[in-house]
Amino acid sequence: MNPMLTESLKEEARQIHRQLVCGLPVDLREVCDCLGVDYHEEPMPERIDGMFVQTEDGGKHIFVNNIRSKMKGRRRFSCAHEIGHAIIAIRGFDEGAENRQLGVRDPVVERACNVFAAELLMPDGVLKEMWNQFRREIDVLEQLAKWFGVTTSALSIRLKELGII
Ligand SMILES: [Zn+2]
Repeated sequence: MNPMLTESLKEEARQIHRQLVCGLPVDLREVCDCLGVDYHEEPMPERIDGMFVQTEDGGKHIFVNNIRSKMKGRRRFSCAHEIGHAIIAIRGFDEGAENRQLGVRDPVVERACNVFAAELLMPDGVLKEMWNQFRREIDVLEQLAKWFGVTTSALSIRLKELGII
């Protein structure tokens, strides 16, 4: 386990919000720009959502799968997740010795990047505020999902994790 990695990434997401994000949905291309990461969308095999690639010359690229079955909200979550991987590389965060082998997907790192993505796309303060304001609306999940640019399932998970529902 590496709880430090998750905490560090969460703090990075909050930092991004303090520094540059204004308004919803969060502008992920702007976040990529600020980090010096190039964003690409391309069709890829179904099982792949996205990937972060660092080239030998230090170039950093995020590729997100844009085949039709990956809805916009899903693609945004994939992008935010990959931004997590990019930040790990940029900041040189310790992923744990066992994770350094190339090509190995460590569930702890993947989980940390998902936590980061949720924090980046659905900052808890704003989410709580909006939930309290709109929770009586019949289509609150759909509305909030639209505003945050996420899927309703990502939103539900986030609301549960924050203990809101
Ligand atoms: Zn990942």
